[in-house]
Formats: sequence, C-alpha cells, structure tokens
Amino acid sequence: MNVNPSTRVEEGPLDVPRIRADFPLLARTVHGKPLIYLDSANTSQKPSAVIDAVDNFFRHTNANVARAVHALGEEATSAYESTRDKLARFINAPSRNEIVFTSGTTQAINLVAYSYALPRLKPGDTILVTQMEHHANIVPWQLVCERSGAKLKVAPINEAGELIVERFVELLTPEVKLAAVAHVSNVLGTINPVASLSRECRKRGIPLLVDGSQAGPHLRIDIRALGCDFYALTGHKLFGPTGTGMLWARREHLDAMPPFFGGGEMIREVRFEGTTFADPPHKFEAGTPNIAGFVGLGAALDYVERIGFEKLAAHEGDLLAHATEAMRRVPGLRIIGEAAEKVPVISFLIEGAHAHDLATLLDHEGVAVRSGHHCAHPLMQFYGVAATLRASMAFYNTFDEIDAFIAAMARVRKLLA
Ligand code: PLP
Repeated sequence: MNVNPSTRVEEGPLDVPRIRADFPLLARTVHGKPLIYLDSANTSQKPSAVIDAVDNFFRHTNANVARAVHALGEEATSAYESTRDKLARFINAPSRNEIVFTSGTTQAINLVAYSYALPRLKPGDTILVTQMEHHANIVPWQLVCERSGAKLKVAPINEAGELIVERFVELLTPEVKLAAVAHVSNVLGTINPVASLSRECRKRGIPLLVDGSQAGPHLRIDIRALGCDFYALTGHKLFGPTGTGMLWARREHLDAMPPFFGGGEMIREVRFEGTTFADPPHKFEAGTPNIAGFVGLGAALDYVERIGFEKLAAHEGDLLAHATEAMRRVPGLRIIGEAAEKVPVISFLIEGAHAHDLATLLDHEGVAVRSGHHCAHPLMQFYGVAATLRASMAFYNTFDEIDAFIAAMARVRKLLA
C-alpha cells in the first residue's frame, strides 16, 4: 500500500506537551480552573491542522463539488474526494469506491438498516445485536424489524462488560439475517473480538456490521483483517468536524443496495419515466455534502497517522492503567466495565453521590466528564443503574490531569457528604 509522505509516522516517543499545543481548546480555563477534558468519547477536541484546513477551505477554495468545471469547483472536489482516499487507507479498504460519506455513524447504520436489511427481512427473521450497543446500533434495527415483522435478538455480556462470545455464536442461528456489534463500547471501553466474531458470522453466511465509532480514535482499523461486511465511523470522535463519517461496505453489498436518499449528485440520468443511478459510493450521497467538514476530516486522519497508532495506543494504555489504579483506591468508587481489552474509557459510580451532581461539581473544578445513560439504556438496565459517570481519555491527556481529576473528586465528595 502507498504511504502518503504527509502522513509519515513521527519518530520517538509521544511528545504529549507538544501534542497538547496542537489543540488550542485544551489551553482554556473553565470556571477559572485549567480545563481537564475527559469527555473525548462524547466528542474529541480538534487539532489546529483540522481547524486550519476548514478555515482555509472557506477562505480559498469554497465551491460546490462534482458540479462545476471552474477552477474552484475542481479544487473543492479534489480536496473533498481526497478524504475518500485517506479513509480507504485509514481502514485498509480494498477500494475508495467502497467508502460512502455519511454525516456520522448514525446515518451509516440507518443506511444499512433501510437499504440493505429492510428489503431482505421477513417475519420470523432476526437481527442480532449485543447488550452493550449504543442506541444508534439498536433503534434503526428496531425500526426495520417493526416494518418487516422481524425480531431483535440480544447477545449477553458478563459482569466485567465483555461479550460472552460462546453465547453470541450460539445465537447465530439460520433466522439471523444480520449481526451488528460495537467494535468498542462507548460506556465500558470494552474492545470486542471483531475478527473472531466475523469468522463465525461468515461461516454461517451472516453479514456483520461493526459500529467503529469508539474504535476509530484508539485502534488501527484494518477491515480486511477484521473480515466484517460493513464498518461505520464517525468523524467528530476522530478529531475531525461534526457532520462527517463513513460507511464502508463490501462492493457486492453496495452494488445490491438500492439508494436510500434521492436527489442531486446520486444519479446517472433522470427522466420523468424513471431514473438511473450513479455507481457506488455516489448513489448513496444525494445532495450537497458537508464539504469543508470532509476536508477537515482528511486533515484529522493525516494528523493521527503522523503520530502513529502504535505510539498513541502505548500512551493511552499507560493512561488507562494509571487512571484505573488511582480510581480503585478511591473509597466507595465502583468501576463499571473491567474488560481485559479496553480503550481509555472508564465508567464509574460513587456510593452516596448522584452521577449528575458529581459531574456538575467536577465541572466547577474544571473537569469535564459525562454523566447519564450514554445512549445505552439497555446496558444501564443490565448493571441496574440509571446513570454513570464516564471519564474518557485521548492521547492528549496527561498523568497530571488524571491525578488532578482524582484530587478534585476527593474535594467535591466532601461537599456531597
Ligand atoms: N455508536 C457509538 C458506540 C457511539 O459512541 C456513538 C456516539 O456517541 C454513536 C454510535 C453515534 O455516533 P454519531 O452520533 O456521531 O452518529
């Protein structure tokens, strides 16, 4: 595979202070305190390279894509389309034409639900998901099940927050027409063994969709090694702008899928008697897209590729180990999700303190953590809780920030006592 010279991996260990200087927002204060941003699983912060790419696009290149022959139109199209090549390289896709631009994971999963699954589903069929899915990987399936008479089946997890793989495999019965699994849980940080799940699905001829929203920022994704059928990513968690994302699908699926949205950009010829459609991926990309956003996403991919996933993952693994150990020492703190394979995402509860109250008090200390159900009601039900707190880290976080977060937690607990 060609290595893009602008994305050659930097040498040496991860220089976290230098990395932080690339993220202007990390230098701000909140309520007069230095910001400690531990909500990257919700959305990541953006490096200057992304902010500048979007700014530059609007200042110097702005035009609509794939329509105009003038210079600006061609430059805009080429900048926008270059992100398709970058995404294809990023996930090791066999072809750029298998990358469908979407507004995020939600749109990508809905596209598969309505264009791939719905026409194939009939009463008695099932779709298999897991107990740890985000609502974006549950509700679209429920909607197409309702329309078709199919049913949803749920593969269970254990108390540590790991998928029980044997049960998942047992549930792959002939009525299952598609399985849909998170690569990484947004609540627990669990990394699912996607390659072995794929193998089991393929043996039985069941297509597998992988929700890669939370994997993109932490893991090197190689869809050929994973062996799945569909892979969804969202750009804003991957240091890119909101409103960007992709669906990767095997070419044979894209060829067989009818368009989902109709409009400009996705046609070959329109007559009142009938319309013929463009080839994939364009037949799924009706209307004017988030052009500047995708240019920014391209810059984000270049940025993380320059750092290199090996280096990034090494620092994140150290952060996770440091935070987990420190949190285990906090009296009354319960970590929810202790899988053997995790990204640096830690959900937790503190005895006697309501998650929202704690998050609000932590905010006053400059610490941004998320509290709530994290768009995973069924997972909250499994653990018998209404909400958790979640500290989610990225490669730009430091050990000092983790220590400051633990110290802030001790201070705010006193206020709640
Ligand atoms: N899936 C997972 C695991 C997520 O964490 C999220 C966002 O939090 C989504 C899907 C939905 O992503 P988006 O809202 O960007 O489409």
